[in-house]
Amino acid sequence: LAKNIIEAMKFIEVNDVKFIRLQFCDLFGQNRNIAITAMQMERALASGIPFDASLVVGFSESQYTDLVLCPDISTIQLLPWRPQQGKVARIICDIKYPNGDIFESDSRFILKEMIKRAETLGYQFSTSAECEFYLFKQDENGDPTTIPTDQAGYFDLAPYDRGENTRREICLTLEDMGFEIESSRHEAGRGQHEIDFKCDDALSSADKIMTFKTVVKTVAQRNGVHASFLPKPLIDEPGSGMHIRISLSKDGEDILANDNGQLGAEAKQFMAGVLAHIKGMTAIANPLVNSYKRLTGGQEAPHQIGWGFGNRASLIRIPIESNEFGRFELRGPDPTCNPYLTFALILAAGLDGIEKQMVLMDEWEPEVEKSSKAVTPGEQRQELPITLKEALDEMKADTMVSSVLGENLAQKYIEMKTAEWMDYIKTVHPWEIDRYLLTY
Ligand code: GLN
Ligand code: MG
Ligand code: MG
Ligand code: MG
Repeated sequence: LAKNIIEAMKFIEVNDVKFIRLQFCDLFGQNRNIAITAMQMERALASGIPFDASLVVGFSESQYTDLVLCPDISTIQLLPWRPQQGKVARIICDIKYPNGDIFESDSRFILKEMIKRAETLGYQFSTSAECEFYLFKQDENGDPTTIPTDQAGYFDLAPYDRGENTRREICLTLEDMGFEIESSRHEAGRGQHEIDFKCDDALSSADKIMTFKTVVKTVAQRNGVHASFLPKPLIDEPGSGMHIRISLSKDGEDILANDNGQLGAEAKQFMAGVLAHIKGMTAIANPLVNSYKRLTGGQEAPHQIGWGFGNRASLIRIPIESNEFGRFELRGPDPTCNPYLTFALILAAGLDGIEKQMVLMDEWEPEVEKSSKAVTPGEQRQELPITLKEALDEMKADTMVSSVLGENLAQKYIEMKTAEWMDYIKTVHPWEIDRYLLTY
């Protein structure tokens, strides 16, 4: 990893890099980039590259239309799929105002601030993601369809699994880019896959998720298929989640378990905080109208608020590894979220739990596939929001969320997502015609 301008310039020279992509993440979790030639790099590293922010979603609310991309030198990396002659590198950027002040609505900055706050309290937070996605066939024009590339299911092998070559190439490319891949496999849905990578500090982990999505989409495209992270592309098949594995340490020591191998007190409080704020965070962690089709659609996606050890419909699951609590897994988020904001909110919620010494509800594992309506009276359970609209209302009601995001950004997010919701609501969907046309 390059540590300073000299090392970064050396990296560019040694690798014969011709183009550098200055990359950043917009409010809605999409990668954006501007390419510069190697000759511009020294200038970019020294003083950043200005760009017109007025057209970037979530950035236009600032009075300035000019913002500056400031490369984070430690993130420079070759893009292995680009030509080997005249190579292309990418570098992840922070965003500043022209006067050098930090642009406070940059999601990477928001996560960094949260990490700093946690560190002043002695906590380190590491995360990794289990990203699921579908591989779909392309039509004759190269446009995506929703026809899965195979009929295989969980853990299937070739010849049923027709994604193995694409998956293999994705894993190798990721390894070239410094990922440690824990496992990869066919998932339960037809054409659905999962690749898990190793835990890292939360910032690197969020950067990796952004890189991961680009790599998956790029490699799939090269193999003539379309990779989709849409949370629920097929009504009868499982959705695609992005389970987040969370490890916690205090002053360098793992604090998920106490000395007796039980869940530690602070770990419980942290989880209680996450559960207490989960509704308010859902609009960020599950940002699309379509996200809620996954959350309400069963098939091992959580929709009731609880935690447990074994059950895969639990919102928080603690996998027990060699009798230690290595981590817990938050199963709500999906891969379309902005990972920087999602991690910042999880961390803030957990710290709030610790600070307020929140009491963790009893272990509770929902019956798999049990619908919300089937909950026995008296054991009324809390549920995640079932629509984007409900999630946005919950977001408005939880002041912790706007305190992490900043009032401006939170307001902007709600405004833009409400418009998206209204657009959806005003549309007449095929379901309505199927259901009503004959009868009414
Ligand atoms: N696809 C499921 C979800 O939506 C998870 C399935 C699994 O990983 N066991 O979260
Ligand atoms: Mg998994
Ligand atoms: Mg999975
Ligand atoms: Mg999982």
